[in-house]
Amino acid sequence: MRPLIAGNWKMHGLAQQLGEIGAVATAVETTAPSADILICLPATLIDRAAQIVRGRIAIGGEDCSAEEAGAFTGDISVEMLKDAGASAVIVGHSERRHYHGETDAIVSAKAKAASRAGLLTIICIGETKSQRAHNETLSVCDAQLAGSMPDGMTLTATAIAHEPLWAIGTGQIPTSEEIVAVHARIRRRLLARFGEDGRLVRILYGGSIKPDNAHEILALPEVDGGLIGGASLLACDFEAIIRTVSAGH
Ligand code: PEP
Repeated sequence: MRPLIAGNWKMHGLAQQLGEIGAVATAVETTAPSADILICLPATLIDRAAQIVRGRIAIGGEDCSAEEAGAFTGDISVEMLKDAGASAVIVGHSERRHYHGETDAIVSAKAKAASRAGLLTIICIGETKSQRAHNETLSVCDAQLAGSMPDGMTLTATAIAHEPLWAIGTGQIPTSEEIVAVHARIRRRLLARFGEDGRLVRILYGGSIKPDNAHEILALPEVDGGLIGGASLLACDFEAIIRTVSAGH
């Protein structure tokens, strides 16, 4: 499976940072890595970023509405994301779940809308530190996967991002054994639900991936790429992570 390396800028980035996107696109054009490269951006930057990269890398949104259009002030539909030049979107990021009260049902509706519009859809799941301490990681991820991934998704255009909440932005990461155990479990659940087609879904790891740990994490079994926050903001860091995949696959 071709890995997916996806950046998530969160609520960072003004026009003056668009040079970082251009630099990544140029590096990808030059080195042709053996991975799909995506940067998910604040909605305000998507249009300009898409014009800069001209298809050399993919540009995505960080969230979307489940609704097509209507009286939903401040929300952004999947059609609007596409119109701006996005070909992908993240749904259910833990920051959306935590700060905006997004439930599995809401995430599932958003994923359905994104898939309907033909966007590559990254559905995030992950356990808290206390759930891990209480040995609930696998059951929490099982429940979030079942509740956040609707039927009818285009499986080749769906990625599940396992992001332990306690690893996001903290510099802490699970051990390789812990990552492998969760990813193997997610794969088993996908196979149980979709049969052999469950292998078409990419399973990403997210949480404090940096240039110095990327190679080890991204080479683990059932890790089909990464979702990268802080280290996607600077082209030099993101390019270094992309190079570790090219070297490892
Ligand atoms: C994220 O925002 O999804 C993320 C994984 O962030 P970071 O890489 O900074 O931990």
